[in-house]
Amino acid sequence: MMVFDIHVHTRKYSDCSFISPEELISQAVETHLDGIAITEHGMRWPDQEFAKLQKLADAHGVVLINGQEIYTSNAKNEMEGDFLVFGIKQSLTGRYSAQELSEIVHKERGIVIAAHPYKLSRGGKSHYYGAGDRIYKLPIDAIELCHPDHTEMALSKVRKAMSKLGIPGTGGSDAHKIFKVGSCVTVFENKICDEKDFIREIRQGKVKAEKRF
Ligand SMILES: [Zn+2]
Ligand SMILES: [Zn+2]
Repeated sequence: MMVFDIHVHTRKYSDCSFISPEELISQAVETHLDGIAITEHGMRWPDQEFAKLQKLADAHGVVLINGQEIYTSNAKNEMEGDFLVFGIKQSLTGRYSAQELSEIVHKERGIVIAAHPYKLSRGGKSHYYGAGDRIYKLPIDAIELCHPDHTEMALSKVRKAMSKLGIPGTGGSDAHKIFKVGSCVTVFENKICDEKDFIREIRQGKVKAEKRF
């Protein structure tokens, strides 16, 4: 069993985050995480830089996964939700609809996870800062279940979608501040050493989401 926080932002590439990459590693140790997926907004860490951070993480026994969180919108510029993307080499810096994004990622054998699909936006009831019920129409691989902004209502909506679609739920803190790291996690049944393991196990649904604090 391995515990990962698979949704974290650092200040290196997410302007809205206060977390330095180095303190993220020590916090992972502190909060007993086996691994972390870094998911900056609209980009993936360059491989060389990521390898340097991975070295530091290795020294602390923390597995690092290089992901990204991508905002999507339709032709009318209306939001279609945020998605966590893993397993593809390039940063997805363009503008995509949710459907386009899923297709691009799958063409490169990556995975797409709907991030906080039922996080309420200021519009109130059934206005979501996320994909909402659109998840039913998209070829996604998993849905973020445990997220700090998911209410009981959101949790029950995600659970319903998971069972209808037959895909797993994940957990991630979406941390922008250090004390949030590890608050929501994804628990893997099997050992995860690298991105390949990470993707395979999520595809096979051998994960469960947990809210820890
Ligand atoms: Zn987001
Ligand atoms: Zn995020």
